[in-house]
Amino acid sequence: AAKAEGRCCFRFYVSEMSQNVQLRRTLETDLRRALGRGELAVQYQPQVDAKTGAYTGAEALLRWYHPEKGLIPPTDFIPLAEEIGLINAIGTWVLRQACLEATNWPRHMGVAVNLSPVQIMDRRLLRSIKTILSETGLDPKRLELEITETALLGNDEQALATLSAISDFGVAIALDDFGTGYSSLSYLHRFPIDRIKIDRSFLQSIPEDSDSATIVQAITRLGANLGMKVTAEGIETEVQQRFASNAGCDTLQGYFFSRPVTSAQLMSVLETTLRAGAA
Ligand code: C2E
Ligand code: MG
Ligand code: MG
Ligand code: MG
Repeated sequence: AAKAEGRCCFRFYVSEMSQNVQLRRTLETDLRRALGRGELAVQYQPQVDAKTGAYTGAEALLRWYHPEKGLIPPTDFIPLAEEIGLINAIGTWVLRQACLEATNWPRHMGVAVNLSPVQIMDRRLLRSIKTILSETGLDPKRLELEITETALLGNDEQALATLSAISDFGVAIALDDFGTGYSSLSYLHRFPIDRIKIDRSFLQSIPEDSDSATIVQAITRLGANLGMKVTAEGIETEVQQRFASNAGCDTLQGYFFSRPVTSAQLMSVLETTLRAGAA
């Protein structure tokens, strides 16, 4: 009986495996076509000034509207895009789209674009950023690139050279999801980092978790003392907003202010706010 069961389970395992492989292959084929078929889109999540509540800019977040599967979140397909060598093409498209749409926003607003570690290792990155900025006409000072610590890990020299050149060109660099990765403090002074984005997991456990509160305050002070800007991500409640603002964060981002929206929606909110201010 044990033998029969073993064979049954083995067979079941194999068929489940091949099913996953099949699913992945289909997704891979679909992703290769997604860009050309116009299935990718960029949404923008506003970032607000912690003191005044005014919009200072927005983060570009990639969306895939799959014709059958519907909306697929970036965490479900970006790793695949990285594996199959598509992330450079997709990343360049996001960058161009974000810079283009940001030219329609008020001049004081910047746009932040996420970069995959794979893109930072691509020697064509700097050239492509320069080309996109000159073609769209966006002031380099209005662009910020978000990188994660993973990108800096193990490829120090190349990453440092690329990021320094980008920074010299006037584009800002933000360290995303800070506090979750390796959080090696040496990154903060070795690399040209302009902003720290405190990972949303810390903000989201406020006020329940006093350790998280301490960590948010400590990161904010560290950033300020190093001359960097600090953003708190994942603000969902007024309590979290007040906490991050009192802790000294410069900008805040999260569902409490706005979910990611299209550029057109962002502009219509801005117009409404302007009209309300003028009235
Ligand atoms: P991220 O860069 O840390 O972006 C913030 C994520 O948190 C976004 O998820 C955003 O929708 C979500 N978020 C913002 N405020 C709140 C909040 O108050 N509560 C909660 N629960 N979530 C909030 P999203 O859009 O699903 O993106 C997930 C990740 O995918 C991003 O994390 C980023 O690492 C990656 N990603 C998105 N777009 C791109 C892209 O164009 N290129 C690359 N390489 N990665 C991207
Ligand atoms: Mg980000
Ligand atoms: Mg983040
Ligand atoms: Mg993240």
